[in-house]
Amino acid sequence: MKYYSTRNKNLKKSLEVAVTQGLAQDHGLFMPETIPRFPESFFRDLHTLNFREISLNVAMKFFSDDIPVGDLEKITFDSINFDTPLVHIHDRIFTLELFHGPTFAFKDVGARFMARLLGYFIRGYSREVHVLVATSGDTGSAVANGFWKVPGIKVHILYPKGLVSSVQEHQFTTLGENISALEIEGNFDDCQRLVKMAFLDHDLNTHITLTSANSINIARLIPQTFYYLNGFAQLESPVHDMNIAVPSGNFGNLTAAMIAGKMGLPVKKYIAATNINDIVPGYLKTGNFIPRPSVATIANAMDVGNPGNFDRILDLYGHSHSKITETVSGYSYTDDQIRETIGRVYKKYGYLLDPHGATGYQALADQILKLPAETGFFIETAHPAKFADIVEKVIGEKITIPGSLQEAMKKTPVKIRLSADFKDLREYLLTV
Ligand SMILES: *Cc1c(COP(=O)(O)O)cnc(C)c1O
Repeated sequence: MKYYSTRNKNLKKSLEVAVTQGLAQDHGLFMPETIPRFPESFFRDLHTLNFREISLNVAMKFFSDDIPVGDLEKITFDSINFDTPLVHIHDRIFTLELFHGPTFAFKDVGARFMARLLGYFIRGYSREVHVLVATSGDTGSAVANGFWKVPGIKVHILYPKGLVSSVQEHQFTTLGENISALEIEGNFDDCQRLVKMAFLDHDLNTHITLTSANSINIARLIPQTFYYLNGFAQLESPVHDMNIAVPSGNFGNLTAAMIAGKMGLPVKKYIAATNINDIVPGYLKTGNFIPRPSVATIANAMDVGNPGNFDRILDLYGHSHSKITETVSGYSYTDDQIRETIGRVYKKYGYLLDPHGATGYQALADQILKLPAETGFFIETAHPAKFADIVEKVIGEKITIPGSLQEAMKKTPVKIRLSADFKDLREYLLTV
């Protein structure tokens, strides 16, 4: 299958090029030329398959022209080494917990799959491939863990000094092996700028092979469809009017839900949940997409002022605002509302939300509880322990930190400090 650019449907590339290049030359995002559709019977019988089997079924539909089945099975099974349980909260509200992977956030699924797919494509390259990634927290840990010990690949994580949580910093500065952490004297925008400059530096790119692993890579997007099917498989059938609420920042996760819908997953409404960075809910209301600088919130993985995957959503719906609003609704919440939701749900139902999941819960509740008989799940994108300082204050109790997080916290961070001047990064990259 070929992958086209959202800016020009005639610009088509192979899977290998789309994955290694990340972004199309015209700066559009890659999309699969066709979205395979499963028959209704597949969904009827989905509950008989486990998460790995579901994932392999989807991976085969997308990738079996490009990758031999045996390799694809290995890539898929190595990536999907944890479950995504569906948990009932109350009434018709369920949560799909995506935080059971190594870094306790949903990005593990896409990052692990991409790392293995990239590892597969570069196995014949004579030179090492260097992955550069800028992170404000969760992306760095998921990518670092996903690529950890993948042969032929070295990863360099750029993160802003003092602006990621201690848990997050420990997650990507204590792995060692092929993972290096670069602490930048600047903010997240500086980190992104440095990565961009490195890709544009012709001379540097003749010396080393650089690639990115950010969330717009098609190899991260497609595997994110797997868990929506796995969520549906765990609902008691027959399921009527299923809604899916997704806490969103760059909107990759919601885009994956929509692709799952095009594959035949019966979704009534996609619900975009955001913090006060409400660019997409604003677009749904007015038809105008107006990016603006992001504002810091307690759900910081969703502090995005120019959602990178929005062009894919437009592409999926033929750029029609009315088609989009037919199946997508949007809700945004302030930090105070997020705290209130965490406290209320914990007290009433004994379920502890993280700040991101809290927006998803509330959006789903606001959408369906007023309607008769609709059901749905929201995505829990991160383990609450990753945001222990926030949730503990809200509920007034100490929470248990998972063992592997505690282990990472005991290790000493290893990092290289660089200025926000590109000259320093360039010099560093020329010596790796
Ligand atoms: C990345 C992230 C999000 C946002 O996901 P997008 O695909 O960028 O919309 C939400 N919650 C958590 C915990 C995240 O790490």
